[in-house]
Amino acid sequence: MKFEQRIPRQTSAVLFDEAQGYFPGGVNSPVRAFRSVSGPPLFIKEGKGSRMRDEDDNEFLDFCCSWGPLIHGHANEYIENKVIETVRKGTSFGTPNRLGNQLGKLILDHHPYVERIRFVSSGTEAVMSALRLARGVTGRNKILKFDGCYHGHVDSLLVKAGSGLATFGTSSSAGVPENVAADTIILPLNDRDLLEETLAKHAHEIACIIVEPIPANNGLLIQDPSWLECLRIKAWKHNVLLIFDEVISGFRVGFTGAAGYYNVKPDIITFGKVIGGGFPVGAYAASAEIMDNIAPVGPVYQAGTLSANPVAMAAGLAALELCLTPGFYELQEQKTHAMATAIEAYAKEKGYPLHVPHIGSIFWLAFGNERITRSDQIDAANMEYFKVIHHELLQTGVYLGPSGYEVGFVSGAHSIKDLEEAVSKICAAMDVAFG
Ligand code: PMP
Repeated sequence: MKFEQRIPRQTSAVLFDEAQGYFPGGVNSPVRAFRSVSGPPLFIKEGKGSRMRDEDDNEFLDFCCSWGPLIHGHANEYIENKVIETVRKGTSFGTPNRLGNQLGKLILDHHPYVERIRFVSSGTEAVMSALRLARGVTGRNKILKFDGCYHGHVDSLLVKAGSGLATFGTSSSAGVPENVAADTIILPLNDRDLLEETLAKHAHEIACIIVEPIPANNGLLIQDPSWLECLRIKAWKHNVLLIFDEVISGFRVGFTGAAGYYNVKPDIITFGKVIGGGFPVGAYAASAEIMDNIAPVGPVYQAGTLSANPVAMAAGLAALELCLTPGFYELQEQKTHAMATAIEAYAKEKGYPLHVPHIGSIFWLAFGNERITRSDQIDAANMEYFKVIHHELLQTGVYLGPSGYEVGFVSGAHSIKDLEEAVSKICAAMDVAFG
């Protein structure tokens, strides 16, 4: 299929050419390179509310929202003002600061499952630190993760399943030593017997189980709540720690994330994205007892020059204050549900193989008509449909993340009218893809 560009993309193309001379593949994070969709990546110059504009002056209704952080949309005035106020007083001191206290307090006051938190600067850093903490607390080296969950580019998590049932990982990236990958055990999601079997055999060497309670990096693989309860119970039974990686789900499906949504208490939670209000912030949190293992109190070392940077703290604080507006999460969930069901209704009427899994304000365009809960149920061949839909949507002014494995996000800035516009454009794009 030929992907004819009906919107100007010359400026982005020129900038991308230039960027090739500076950055590997022209980008600073791989999916941004638009390798599996049409045309050069868009160079975005500004955003306001639910929309953003590229260097060619095309405007897009944005459902990527910077991959999740922008739960209040672009350039939210409340957040913007707090950031500007803070920037004017200096940007970083490398000392404790009041804004860090305020954000810490706001989170801990409203989260029933954690008592202490440590701010870092990215989701990857949060996960890496949480793993070190789990290993430090238990004195064990192995970790157990699930196929289909992504946890950032942490060495021991850049692994793929090896051969055999309870598979010890082999690295999925060059540069990850095999012996590091071998300390990671990978299981399929929701295989309760295999989980029990693996824990029965290896629990004495496993520090923690890590899971995305709402796996949202390989499609949106919504799990049965009973599976998350099963994880909790098995972790207790076998005396290993349970880490919920809530870098996406935290403050997104509700203020207390997936832990609160499903009412399952993990031992450690990692955060990122929404927590920084659009600035680089990650965090990990747990009980005081567990967190007191971290330096300077305990023997697990972890530090950061820009950790709890005041500007980032101001942005995060403002964003989370807005999240606490009564009814905020209910409204985002209702809007997302309405949009997803309208798209699904159209697909059904036309007999198109597409459905729209969604939870909170996260959604995914899933091909086929069967519910997908594991990554091996995703048929890579269907990504050709995604490429067409993505292309058509760009031509009509709607931006989805440039990969069919990525989820979309609805923000507080998306109006009902915006979502109606999106539904009609997505339906038109489906007509091109499937018609
Ligand atoms: N964990 C999860 C669940 C994520 O979705 C991501 C990022 N998509 C990360 C960790 C890594 O976060 P970051 O990109 O901020 O390093």
